[in-house]
Amino acid sequence: VQNNIQMTEVTMSTSKHDAFWMPFTANRQFKAEPRLMVSAEGMYYQTEDGRNVLDGTAGLWCVNAGHGRKRISEAVAKQIQQLDFAPTFQMGHPLPFELAERLVKHTPDGLNRVFFTNSGSESADTSLKIAIAYHKAKGNHGKTRLIGREKGYHGTNFGGISVGGLGNNRKSFGSLLTGVDHLKHAWKPGSEFTKGLPEDGAEMADELLDMIALHGAETIAAVIVEPIVGSGGVFMPPQGYLKRLRQITEQHDILLIFDEVITGFGRVGEAFASNRMGVTPDIMNTAKGLTNGAIPMGAVFLQDFIYDAFMQGPEEIIELFHGYTYSGHPVAAAAGLATLDIYEEENLFQKALQLESYWQESLHKLREHGVVKDIRNYGLVGAIELHSSEKFGERGYKIFNHCYWKQNALVRCTGDTIAMSPPLILEESHIDELMNALSKSLSNAL
Ligand code: PLP
Repeated sequence: VQNNIQMTEVTMSTSKHDAFWMPFTANRQFKAEPRLMVSAEGMYYQTEDGRNVLDGTAGLWCVNAGHGRKRISEAVAKQIQQLDFAPTFQMGHPLPFELAERLVKHTPDGLNRVFFTNSGSESADTSLKIAIAYHKAKGNHGKTRLIGREKGYHGTNFGGISVGGLGNNRKSFGSLLTGVDHLKHAWKPGSEFTKGLPEDGAEMADELLDMIALHGAETIAAVIVEPIVGSGGVFMPPQGYLKRLRQITEQHDILLIFDEVITGFGRVGEAFASNRMGVTPDIMNTAKGLTNGAIPMGAVFLQDFIYDAFMQGPEEIIELFHGYTYSGHPVAAAAGLATLDIYEEENLFQKALQLESYWQESLHKLREHGVVKDIRNYGLVGAIELHSSEKFGERGYKIFNHCYWKQNALVRCTGDTIAMSPPLILEESHIDELMNALSKSLSNAL
């Protein structure tokens, strides 16, 4: 062991970028040529080298109301001065109550209870724990199994990676949760270049019936899926697939959890994908757009019947032994309230629907580039999948890097898929600018 340690090359700190171990980043590649943003306004970032870069990704799927919103920064500044922190364990302060009341006006019917977290990862683990605890509260002690899906991403905590379906996020981390199974990736070859949701594939949800036959419904607590697969490559659900999952879970007393961390807060043309797709889960996980990305915060929305199941014992006993120091943090809640004001006043939850067909047609024009293998879109979500070179991910990275340095546009690459999710304040001219940038990169970067 000692030899191995001695043989490992030690990277000495030699530059101002060395100390920060960057998340989900090729650190050495990044630090050799850092891409640094120093300010932002509206649809644009300003870079360290003085360029304006069009934000085609709303930061990381979170800045839905655009950058530099004074209403949010002023609310945050005011709140931090008035009440910087107060606990929400056996204590309280008004803002998370107010925020929760406001938020549930936008959720599908029945999702009226809110548990606050600080991130999408915490929302994932919170939802899984509540699902298991719910069945226990109902006396169904055997219902502990969790079903995720291949390509699913539910953040990076142990629960989330256990139900998640991305190999790289799982395989370095030892034993994960036991009693977990995964549905197949719900996308059929032949669906390439579909505009919106693929017609074919609803029957793939019936695989859940096989799992029920295999494990017994009496062992299954919950099924968790993203309505739209995000980090796994941006795949839209086949028409009817989520409805079918809903029917099966309902028939077998299995809770259905939708992870709406990226699809929430207007990304697809209504407040949540559940609203637009007409399928109401039992639990809905959110984060990101909740505060426009300005302050970390997440929220798990729960059906009344779940909350009620916990409220049956003696009133002086804590009903759920779970929570975070910062659940309902006053400054985050202030950011959330100001963000919601903006979404409501500017009708931003409808914006993706208004721009959807222009977005769709502009995006699908890029099909003329021979390297493009598939294009997918829904709401203001877009993805361009490239034919891979011998080195998977190389082309995606090249396009992303070229867009940033040469075309002044920020897109995101996951493997060889370019993902886009612009702020909802964008206009048609920004769509033109983004697609132009991509088209030039597709012509020149490979
Ligand atoms: N769930 C989904 C669907 C996500 O896309 C993400 C982040 O991208 C997460 C959970 C994790 O969120 P966070 O990075 O805030 O922990």
